[in-house]
Amino acid sequence: MKAWKIYERMIAQLFADQVSTGLCVTPNARIMGSRSGVLRQIDVLIEPRHTPDFLYRSIVEAKRIARKIHVKDVETLLGMMDDVDARHGYLVCPTGHSDAALRRAQDTVRICLIPLDRIADFDPTAWPECLGACRGGRIFWDGFPQVEMKATQADDPLGRIKLLAYPQKVGKCDVCGAFHVHCLSCGDTLLVPHDVSEEDFGHQCSCRLPWFWLGSVEPDELGRRSAELQLILGSGDVTTVNRRPL
Ligand SMILES: [Zn+2]
Ligand SMILES: [Zn+2]
Repeated sequence: MKAWKIYERMIAQLFADQVSTGLCVTPNARIMGSRSGVLRQIDVLIEPRHTPDFLYRSIVEAKRIARKIHVKDVETLLGMMDDVDARHGYLVCPTGHSDAALRRAQDTVRICLIPLDRIADFDPTAWPECLGACRGGRIFWDGFPQVEMKATQADDPLGRIKLLAYPQKVGKCDVCGAFHVHCLSCGDTLLVPHDVSEEDFGHQCSCRLPWFWLGSVEPDELGRRSAELQLILGSGDVTTVNRRPL
């Protein structure tokens, strides 16, 4: 894997480790620019996990460059933010920035220094391989929902109810964006397509308990579409656990 790509993935991982669980992180996202009308590549996209809300969309640009960040780099990011409706931007670089760049950044862009030598402890090729049709993609886990089930204990004369927990990992491929789910109870990894056919009734792990996963495509009020990953419980409760723009 190329060094700039490893740097980009490391930045995605650092953000995923630090943001609240209500936000989801998409490495290598593509968003249709509302002004340019072309697809823009975003190194790391951060947006609300459960419902689409552009007020909380942030983008991260990882600049693996030897020179300092200039005013122009900040302005390029501001232009990108405007095009993809992001309210906050992060410019990440290993070397530093000029004073003018910092002044131009103001409150909407934050410049973060992350040294290259941190790459030494980071290996995205250790991430599991994508189960979709893409070649060379890796699964980036950014969500850790837990499915909880109530079970009555048959051998308990008082009929007490026990709460059983089934931890899960959810995420997407860093190349094609396909959703994946990993059940830590049975060890299964499932590929969950978002463009569901009529025969797709959902995906279930070997636990064979009353929950399953389903992909979908949802437009917001302005017609911008997101791929979503839904967790559907036997009770009928549906939770959106991951998303990415289409
Ligand atoms: Zn893939
Ligand atoms: Zn399972």
